Amino acid sequence: MFEQLKPVPQDPILSLLADYRADTHPHKLDLGIGVYKDEQGNTPIMRAVKEAEHRLLTTEKSKSYTTPAGTDEYNQLARALVFGADHAALRDQRVVSAQTPGGCGALRMGAEFLHGCNQKSRVWVSLPTWANHAPLLAGAGLEIVEYPYYDYATHGIQFEAMLEALEQASAGDFVLLHGCCHNPSGADLNREQWHAVADLMARKGLIPFVDMAYQGLGNGLDQDAFGVRMLAERFPEMLVATSCSKNVGLYRERTGTLFIVAANRAEAQTAGSQLFSKIRSHYSMPPAHGAAIVETILADAGLTASWEYELAAMRERIQGLRQQLVAAIAASGIDGDFAFIQQQFGMFSFLGITPLQVEQLRQDYSIYMINSSRMNIAGLNQGSMDYFVSALTEVLSA
Ligand code: PMP
Repeated sequence: MFEQLKPVPQDPILSLLADYRADTHPHKLDLGIGVYKDEQGNTPIMRAVKEAEHRLLTTEKSKSYTTPAGTDEYNQLARALVFGADHAALRDQRVVSAQTPGGCGALRMGAEFLHGCNQKSRVWVSLPTWANHAPLLAGAGLEIVEYPYYDYATHGIQFEAMLEALEQASAGDFVLLHGCCHNPSGADLNREQWHAVADLMARKGLIPFVDMAYQGLGNGLDQDAFGVRMLAERFPEMLVATSCSKNVGLYRERTGTLFIVAANRAEAQTAGSQLFSKIRSHYSMPPAHGAAIVETILADAGLTASWEYELAAMRERIQGLRQQLVAAIAASGIDGDFAFIQQQFGMFSFLGITPLQVEQLRQDYSIYMINSSRMNIAGLNQGSMDYFVSALTEVLSA
């Protein structure tokens, strides 16, 4: 039976990474894969994480099963981080949550839950969106529809077109919104736009599904959660998927959370029972180590302060690189206005060059980014900035 299978092409980002690793150029630059890198090009283990692991080594008493939702302690702390400890939805006990294997696990289990609620509902996603959204959501059986979002010509959001498209959605459809640091564009809704989208969704009976994989890497932990917190005040029902991969640096520990907000406590309990049974039939229970680290950090004021301090430094490094890149491009005499890079958030922006120019950067300068010209800004550093901008100058003037 297996002899008839056809090989699946490798994910373009992973094959790009393999090419980068095999490249021996002394100035090679990886701006492809979406992981945070420090000035030395490393993806470090945060100090608070190391300390939490250290403590766990002596305090952990058992490796026995937890529950399909993970531990209560983790979920309580995660809810406070995302919604803010005194959010009315938490006070009213309208929120249930489950720790999941990463943000991907949260998105997939959210999609499984939604599909179980209504098999006919569709999910609207931004054009473009993170490449794994469609497989994760469609894999659960949801039909995907796209709404225009990023305008490659203006380097901003096509907001009118986005609203016009969402006017076509039917009551009960789900709308996937990026909580902050839109991947791949870095272009985020401002507060006024969040309110306008919320007005439209409320009027049409649409249900928000927010993917917030980068809380704390845009403007700050609370600022980045503005959209989620505002929607949870206004909507009786919504879903939120979050990830500790980037903001706690727990990528391979697979730690994320799915939150279901329901109209009241009783409905939240029932929704939770549905979700937990879906989890049971997929992977039974989430991995515990990453969640234990997060729990240890968030339950301790000192470790929380250390984590927030380091997270702020990461965020400020990215913002600094954005400013330096714009200034260096302007100083190089390259034609065109790249100031948009400075106005965007998180690790990614589209540089706005052609696939052929992306290819040339790779071939001639060993600079790796994906064909759409989405680049990971955190992949740059003080040492590589000049090399990158001079290569870009060459390629754009060719
Ligand atoms: N959503 C978005 C938009 C992402 O960029 C990512 C990570 N690249 C995720 C979700 C999920 O990440 P993970 O499963 O690694 O936590």
